Amino acid sequence: MPAKILVSACLMGHAVRYDGQSKPLVHPAIDRWRAEGRLVTICPEMSAGMPVPRPPAEIAAGAVGKDVLAGRAKVVEVNGRDVTGDFVQAAENALRLARETGCRFALLIDGSPSCGSGFVYDGSFSGARHPGEGVTAALLSDNGIEVYSDRQIDGLVARIDALDER
Ligand code: SF4
Repeated sequence: MPAKILVSACLMGHAVRYDGQSKPLVHPAIDRWRAEGRLVTICPEMSAGMPVPRPPAEIAAGAVGKDVLAGRAKVVEVNGRDVTGDFVQAAENALRLARETGCRFALLIDGSPSCGSGFVYDGSFSGARHPGEGVTAALLSDNGIEVYSDRQIDGLVARIDALDER
């Protein structure tokens, strides 16, 4: 069975981001994987009932997704509202879907407090960012799913192609 990949909905062109926009990833592998039935699309935040558009949110105080999962940090909207519970629910929904559909890999957009895997913003809403995973990416990788950011798609292509050649 071809390896399946959980994908951020905004990368697939769905207008689900906080600002009502999408951020489509243009790459020949995307069309190929779609045709091969490998892609499982989710917006974790929408799956947890968050609306579009919605206020921007960041993991507070320079923390990262694993801190949120451990109860050591919060996710807050720019208006100060605590949305930690929604973000944890979003991550759990993504993990459940990955398990139900047999996804061993995830391709997630970087920088998001949910889907970021290389960096997240630091909670100051100033544009400052630091290395770390968002809440969904952290929960997926903690559970053995290999997470790649949109910038790492060539690495994921090489990984999948190597598996197919076995
Ligand atoms: Fe995109 Fe993930 Fe944010 Fe949804 S939660 S808009 S899929 S980055």
